[in-house]
Amino acid sequence: MQQNHYGRLGAVLSADLINLPELTAASVQSLLEAHEIRRPKVMDAEVEGFGRWRDRLARVFDPQDSAEQCAAVNALLGEATIRPWVTTHDGLQPHLHFVPDSADVLSRVKAVTAGGLAFVLCWEGGSRLGRCTRSACSRAYVDTSRNGRRRYCTARCGNTEAVMRHRSRQSYPKP
Ligand SMILES: [Zn+2]
Ligand SMILES: [Zn+2]
Repeated sequence: MQQNHYGRLGAVLSADLINLPELTAASVQSLLEAHEIRRPKVMDAEVEGFGRWRDRLARVFDPQDSAEQCAAVNALLGEATIRPWVTTHDGLQPHLHFVPDSADVLSRVKAVTAGGLAFVLCWEGGSRLGRCTRSACSRAYVDTSRNGRRRYCTARCGNTEAVMRHRSRQSYPKP
């Protein structure tokens, strides 16, 4: 999974960060641990920075159009990356990093999310970065399905919506 630090992984981390119900040093840190971000310790003083960054990530998941989505990703790249180079740390396959390994955790997360979103946008298409269309949910998701036509964050949300539609049809009086 780590082979793809700047592929889908960074995009999925972006969505998970947006979806975090509560933003605290502990919740962000455990998310980073789950994504195998190295040196994931988050200090209380850094939480606000993560909050601001996730608001900017969110713009990529609900853009007006694809030009706006590209502009949003470019703004992220401009702020979060210093220069790309190929690394093979920890015996991994060659992959790109955009900030030095010595950077603090927020800077590294900025780089991995900005880079990941750019990769998905360019290689898989911006429509794969979306929001669940179940109105009560609207969680951010990265569509990893084969045909790329997902509209819900999870199969569960899709099923819930299908049941609701079915019920509301049934509640109409039959002619
Ligand atoms: Zn790496
Ligand atoms: Zn959902």
